[in-house]
Formats: sequence, C-alpha cells, structure tokens
Amino acid sequence: MKANRVIGVDLGGTKILAGVIDADGTVLETVEHPTPTTSQGALLDGVVAAVRELPQEGVQAVGFGVPSRIDHRHGIALGSVNTPLRDVPFRDEMRERLGLPIGLENDGTCAAYAEYLHGAGRGTENFVMLTLGTGVGGGVVVDGELFRAWTELGHMVIVEDGEPCQGACSGRGHVEAYCSGSAVERLAQKVLGSAGTARELVAQHHPVLAEVGHHLGVTLGSLVNIFGAERVAIGGGFGVAAFDELVPAARRAVLTEALPPSGQDLQIECAELGTDAGLIGAGLIAFEAL
Ligand SMILES: [Zn+2]
Repeated sequence: MKANRVIGVDLGGTKILAGVIDADGTVLETVEHPTPTTSQGALLDGVVAAVRELPQEGVQAVGFGVPSRIDHRHGIALGSVNTPLRDVPFRDEMRERLGLPIGLENDGTCAAYAEYLHGAGRGTENFVMLTLGTGVGGGVVVDGELFRAWTELGHMVIVEDGEPCQGACSGRGHVEAYCSGSAVERLAQKVLGSAGTARELVAQHHPVLAEVGHHLGVTLGSLVNIFGAERVAIGGGFGVAAFDELVPAARRAVLTEALPPSGQDLQIECAELGTDAGLIGAGLIAFEAL
C-alpha cells in the first residue's frame, strides 16, 4: 500500500531538494538540483521539474518550504532575499501545474517544525530554530503550536546601522549579515586571504568564529526574551558544520542578553535532521494541506 505519501520541496538559495515523505516523516526518495536563479520563471519551472522527477504513486499533496515572506491567506510568496521570487501566487500556480493540494510555508519554519516533531525540539513546548545557510532563516513553536507568520528571524537587527544585509534586503546589521554561511565566507576571505572559506575557518578552529558565535548568542537572547524558548536548535549547512565553534561564545552572550531564568536554562542543540529538516518540514506542511 502506497497511500498517505506527500512530496516535500525545500527550495533553498543554492539547491532544490525534493523528496517523497510518508506520514511519520520518513524520507523515501529524494532528488536534488541547483536552484535556477536567472529568473522567477526558471525557478518555478525548476521546482515543478524536481517534483515530477519523483515517483508520484500514492502522493496526495505537495508542500513547499520557500525562502520568502508568505501571505498565508492568499498563498503568495511575497518576496525573497536570496532567490528571484516576488509577489508570486505560489499556491495557486503549483496547484494548477501539479494538480494536487499544496502546502506553502517559509523554509526556516518548515525546518523548525520538522525538528520540533522529529528532531532536536522533541519534548519541548516552546522551541526556536535558526538555520545558518546561504541566508539565515528560522522558525518558532509556541505552546506546542507552529508560529505561522513572516518569521524572517535572519532579518532581525542585532547591530544598529551595522553591516549591509545581502541579496534583496536593504537593511543593515541583520543577523544574516553576520551569521549566514555567506557572511562567514566573506569573513574568511578577510581573515585568511582571497582563497579563504568558511569551511577552512571551522577546520582551523579559528578564533574569529567566536565573533560569529557572539552575534548568534545575541540573536538567541532576543528570541528567548520574546518567545520564552526553553530550547533552541541551530541548523543549516554552515550552522551544523560550525556548531561546536559557535556555541561557547553564543552561550556567554545568551547569559548576558536573555532574561532569567531562560538565559541560564536555555538548551542550545545542534539540529538532528541535518540538511533534510526543511524537506521533512515541507512534507509535514503538505499533510496539513490535505
Ligand atoms: Zn536583511
């Protein structure tokens, strides 16, 4: 029996990861392609092609985790910092092209939901996740309910009039300008020379990563003060790779910035589902679209 399957699609700034997922969140088969970023049309064609490449048998819905602010009522992707998406009626367009019910959510929120139900957030009531990748995303669970808003946690201001943000964001001093994998690539070039990479900084246990960890901790402290999270998880490609290097400085900043008792008690965990978190979360969102 092959009923009760969905397809989840994690649309990232660098790659599209799509997979068939069953009702308990198990990933059965995946495909991966680079994200076409030349135009919005190419991007939408790319996600449709990725979905169609997977076996369709028993698939009842498709869920998308999209790096965009989402208008949940109308199913619109309002705008994305690192991909060419702007004011797209994403849900209607995908429903028409794929002929299935469509779930749509911010990519970081998808990852947080997956970690909450099946990974590092299990057993909590108030949980925050930050994903450090091309950009910085994240998601929030409050009193056991997924917080479904814009949830662009990476575009929180942590340094007033600080470093310019990246992509289509005009802001300054946002988390993404300090803690994303892309930001740390730039930092690596500054510190190690033009061939420097974030990966090399991590391999060297480079002390400059403590600065990144400090920015991360300041961010977590503010999020704890708003949401009262008892646990936070750090995910995303860079976040998982650099977790051990970032956490000591992040922990010190949390102790200063977060109000008691959360600052002392906050659990900072590495994401458990790895780079599949967004994909699994998109699948969970697809089930909710049924
Ligand atoms: Zn920004």
